[in-house]
This record gives sequence, structure tokens and C-alpha cells, in this order.
Amino acid sequence: MLAQTIFREYDIRGVADTELADADVQVLGQALGTYIARHAGKKICLGRDTRLSSPRLHDALLKGLIASGAEVTDIGIVPTPLLYYSVYKLKTDGGVMITGSHNPAEFNGFKSMTSETSLHGEEIQRVFQMIQSGDLDSGSGSVKEYDIVTPYVDEIGSSFPWDRKVKVVFDAGNGVAGPVMHKLAKKLNIEATELFYEMDGHFPSHHPDPTVEKNLAQLREAVKEKKADLGIAFDGDSDRIGAIDEQGNVIWGDILLLIYAREILTRKPGATFIGEVKCSQVLYDEIERLGGRPIMYRTGHSLIKAKLKEEHAALAGEMSGHMFFSDRYYGFDDALYAACRLLEIVSKSGKPLSAQTADLPKMFVTPEIRVDCPDDLKFDVVARVVERFKKTHKVIDIDGARVVFEHGWGLVRASNTQPVLVMRFEATSPELLEKYKAEVETVLAEEQAATPAHS
Ligand SMILES: [Zn+2]
Repeated sequence: MLAQTIFREYDIRGVADTELADADVQVLGQALGTYIARHAGKKICLGRDTRLSSPRLHDALLKGLIASGAEVTDIGIVPTPLLYYSVYKLKTDGGVMITGSHNPAEFNGFKSMTSETSLHGEEIQRVFQMIQSGDLDSGSGSVKEYDIVTPYVDEIGSSFPWDRKVKVVFDAGNGVAGPVMHKLAKKLNIEATELFYEMDGHFPSHHPDPTVEKNLAQLREAVKEKKADLGIAFDGDSDRIGAIDEQGNVIWGDILLLIYAREILTRKPGATFIGEVKCSQVLYDEIERLGGRPIMYRTGHSLIKAKLKEEHAALAGEMSGHMFFSDRYYGFDDALYAACRLLEIVSKSGKPLSAQTADLPKMFVTPEIRVDCPDDLKFDVVARVVERFKKTHKVIDIDGARVVFEHGWGLVRASNTQPVLVMRFEATSPELLEKYKAEVETVLAEEQAATPAHS
């Protein structure tokens, strides 16, 4: 049986060769088919990424889905956002994407949907319980293949009629973005250089995770060499975007979100935008200055997606590069679509990408700093840090402690997925950054030492 540990907050994921055996994955398929049928219906879209283990997992999962009685529409090897798109367009009852996303090559996993929402948290645990108790439907389902790429490329390609030709370098990192982006690019007014478009589950060029700066080195070189306006990278399954400007500076998720928000606010005054607690203060201040409504929310993409709907926001985004456009789109995270939106902004501005950030205040930030802390203690520790700082500072406690200092902030929060505490800092000077960091680290160390262990 599959180990409970692979049933995680946002997906079901493990080392393919040791944790995802054929027979177990088949039972998982039957459980997912049962779950989706009981909550929505029997029509399920199935996609997979280009990882070496994906064909094997696909065959096993498909057997299980059919055994549950599901009517499967198999859309083949596609980016994760095309799985979402297929569920919306074909109006199926759910979908399953076989993907390891940006994780190391030996991993693989399953992202699932009922109707238009992603399974997460307790819903994923429920699937595990159904396997454990053998509470599974059986039937004789069916499978048919379907080309979703053609309608997708037609729809997205025809919705961006910009004037100025943009020079861009794309880096698909040997993930699934390449073939679809290649077709899409033909419909757009761009001059594109294509890096690592061959799908290869060994990921020979670099790891397909654009949030890690060293993975952007080749893109940076190519952007300079081609004198491009910008460079865009995709993660392994294309639900996360990374961007660099023409000078090679990385534009992180929060500032990307701001670039998109500013454009939207020219058309939709007062629009709402959702960022996470890790995002720069510049994002929130600038949206407010422009008359928009910024909301700082909890980290975690299913949470952010739910908040997007609840607040009727135009856009939500994460540091990791997940961008959820409701404005002119369906509200799911699609890095190919996000790339088109960025190209549109750059085209219309008549200038390279750096022009979009030139007027923003210069801030100094740390990357995410991770501190080990056992799962059963991490929330207690964070609660103590919140209480401690509340005595002396303003603390935003929607997700951990975001301590507001005079010229910056420091964040301590418990990871949803690992036994760690995550910290991040921002300030107007390197000296203040160090000062705030030292202050928070001292309090954290004291409170961590003082937190009683659960018996
Ligand atoms: Zn991904």
C-alpha cells in the first residue's frame, strides 16, 4: 500500500521507483476515480509530464481509473495548466495530472481536481483513508484520447494582438513547456529564442526550477547575447514562471505580480490583488498607491486560489512564480499564459523589461532562510514569537509572524509541508536588514528553547 507520508498538502508525491509501485498506483487510480465520482461525476481528464517514470505511472493509474468506472479523456503529455484548461473547456468532473513539477528527477506525483478545484489537505487524506479501508467503487470505465493543445494554442494565441515585436528568450528546462510554447510563439508577434525545448526527464541542462537563481544562468547568457527584451523560464510542468530583465536581473514573483497588477489597474481601477506574507512591502504599497486593493494572505497555492475566488480578485500570485489570473482568464496558474501577459506589457511599453521596475524603491531582501523545527512544535514556537513581538511591534499574524519594523519587516512562519520554520527579511538598507534579522533570530532562538515538547 502507498505510504501515508506521500499524501501531502497539495499533491500525492514520492520517489517513483521505491514509493510508487504499479499495483499501488492502480489502487490510487481507483480511489481517485471513486472520490471524483462521488463529489462530481465520472468524467475525468488525465495528463502527464515528461518524466521517465510518467509512462509507467500513467498506465497503472489509468487501469485504476477505468476499474472505478471512470470515463477518462486522456490528453497525453502536456503542461499542468493544460490539464486544468481541459477540465474547464471539456466541462469534465475532474482531472488528474501525473507530474513531479519542479522536484528532483527521481520524484513523481499526482495533482488532482474535482470539478474546477484542486484537491488539497483533508481531501487528499480522505483519498488515503479510502485506500486504507478499501472503500472503492468498481465498474467498467472507458478511455479516449483528445488533443487539447490545438484549441489551447488557438485561444491563447488569438487573444494577444500586440504591435511591437518583442525579442524574448524562453527556457523550458527540458520540461513540458517547449512543444506548446513553440506552437504558441508562432501566433504571437515575437522573435523567440528557444532554450532546452526537447523534453527529457533526465533534465540534462539544469534543474527545471526557476526560483533557484543558478538555474537561470544559461537564460541570462542567452538574453545578453541576443540583446533580448527579457527572458522567461518555466518549471518542469509549466505552472510556475521565472523572468529576468534584459540586464540579467531576476524579477521575483512578488515584483512580477506588481508588474501585472499595474497594467490591470489601468483598465480596472480599484481591482483586488492577493499576495502571500512573503511578498515585498513594495507590492502592497504600490498597489494601494495606485488605488487598488491589496490583500496579504497565507502561503500555499490552494489557499491563495480559494481566496482569489472569495474576493473576486483580478490576480493572485506567489514568490514561487505561480500566477493566477482571473482578469481575462480562468483563475488557474498557467505560466505559458503568464508569459504572454508579460510579453504584452513589454511590447506595449516599447521598452525592455527593466523599464517596468526602474521606478520602484530599492529594497534589500534575504532569500528564504530555513530553520529545522519538529512538526509537533513548529506552530507553538511561531505562536510564542507572535506574542513576544506583539508587545513591542506591529505584527501581521495571518500566517506566522510578519514583524513590522520602521524600515522593513521580518517573517517567521511554519512550513506547511516540512519540519522547518521559514524566515525572510526586507529592509531599505543592508545594515537594517542585518539588524532586523539578528533581532528576530535572537527571539526565535529563545522561544524555540523555551517551547515545551509535547508528551
Ligand atoms: Zn510546477
